[in-house]
Amino acid sequence: MALRVEQDIFIVRQRGREVAAAVGLEHQDQIRVATALSEVARDLLRIVGGADVAFTVADARGGRSALWVDLAPVRPLPEGRYEPQSGAVARLLDTLGVSSSEGDTVVRMSRRLPANTPPLTAARLAKLRAELGHTAPASALDELATQNEQLIAALDEVRGQRDELARLNAELEETNRGVMALYTQLSEELEATNRGVVALYAELDEKSAQLRAASESKSRFLANVSHELRAPVTAIIGLGRLLTDPASDPLSPAQAEQVELIRSSAADLLSLVNDLLDLAKAESGRIEPEWTQVDLRAVFGQLQGTLRALTTRPAVKLVVEDPPAPAVLRSDEVLLSQVLRNLLHNALKFTERGEVRMRAERDGDRWCLSVTDTGAGIPPELHGRIFEEFYQVPGIDRRGGTGLGLPYARRLVTLLGGTLELASEPGRGSTFTVVLPVGEE
Ligand code: ADP
Repeated sequence: MALRVEQDIFIVRQRGREVAAAVGLEHQDQIRVATALSEVARDLLRIVGGADVAFTVADARGGRSALWVDLAPVRPLPEGRYEPQSGAVARLLDTLGVSSSEGDTVVRMSRRLPANTPPLTAARLAKLRAELGHTAPASALDELATQNEQLIAALDEVRGQRDELARLNAELEETNRGVMALYTQLSEELEATNRGVVALYAELDEKSAQLRAASESKSRFLANVSHELRAPVTAIIGLGRLLTDPASDPLSPAQAEQVELIRSSAADLLSLVNDLLDLAKAESGRIEPEWTQVDLRAVFGQLQGTLRALTTRPAVKLVVEDPPAPAVLRSDEVLLSQVLRNLLHNALKFTERGEVRMRAERDGDRWCLSVTDTGAGIPPELHGRIFEEFYQVPGIDRRGGTGLGLPYARRLVTLLGGTLELASEPGRGSTFTVVLPVGEE
């Protein structure tokens, strides 16, 4: 196409739009190309007095086809350069620039075709040419009207986009407000929970301090009372012995029997007082284990000797197994003997027939010392309670016990760094196991 007079600008613009549509550019792109083309055409007409316009379809960078528009100026461009009057023109296109080949300088612009455009075959090209040849160029007025329409459409679209943007902004703001509200709510909840936890901890601390104080005063009370009781009770026993001494004035048989009763009651009382004192001492931490290398065989042998005398029932056999070598551990011999004696004592006390067996078993870095009997057994729900002070299983013969033996034994085992465990069922006997660390040699 030749661009020589003002009116040609309209025709070039119209043609540009038609070609853009024919090669498959979308509506928006058609207007972009047409607008850019008319701007550049106006510039060239003003600067060099005209140009020849040619449309080409060829590959652009990136492999996609593009519509190329070349405007060859009728006279050389000043300094071989071209800058569009309106800087915005370049933004309507993919490329816009001056290009020289074989001495000819052209202003060249391009816009890439959509990816799904069918390839421009020779047949299609011929058809396009024919179609474009048929359409007669419209008058400048017609093109102006079209241009107006396009302008209105473009304005509409801009307005639409602006509305959409406003809507999106509002939505975003709404979402933000929601997120902020949620965040505030969550942090308030967290704060409230934290406050609750802090309060609970404070209460817990207070309660455990109270508990400690109560336990300490109980131990102190027990220690004081038992200490104060020991002297008069010992005096009663001594006086009783004095009364029944052959060197004293003889008593009538009835009197002798009564004094003996007083003496044995006092002896029972003394053992209770002693137990209480022991327990109070253990609880207040006034017992300090004396750590030595303890030979379990010696401990077992000694216990067997002293307790054989206690096995008064012929139907009950006391079996003490020899501990497997090397039977040593780091502990306090006196306290450990006290614990085992206590357990054996109970086992013999609560077993009518069968056997009481003590054995030692090494389990890694621990010793398990167990006392098993074939006695009445203890219901599972009482396994915790029998370790409480003064608790005795109801319904079985108490045989003068105080209910302080097991709590004391457990205290001592804890002091020795171990645990005292119980496995028992009614009718199946009981096993008390002392688990102690072997300790360093
Ligand atoms: P005590 O033997 O002086 O009554 P303990 O604290 O040693 O007190 O034991 C508490 C209670 O646990 C006993 O009264 C008894 O009811 C029960 N008990 C302890 N050892 C055994 C055992 N080997 N078999 C059955 N019951 C037992």
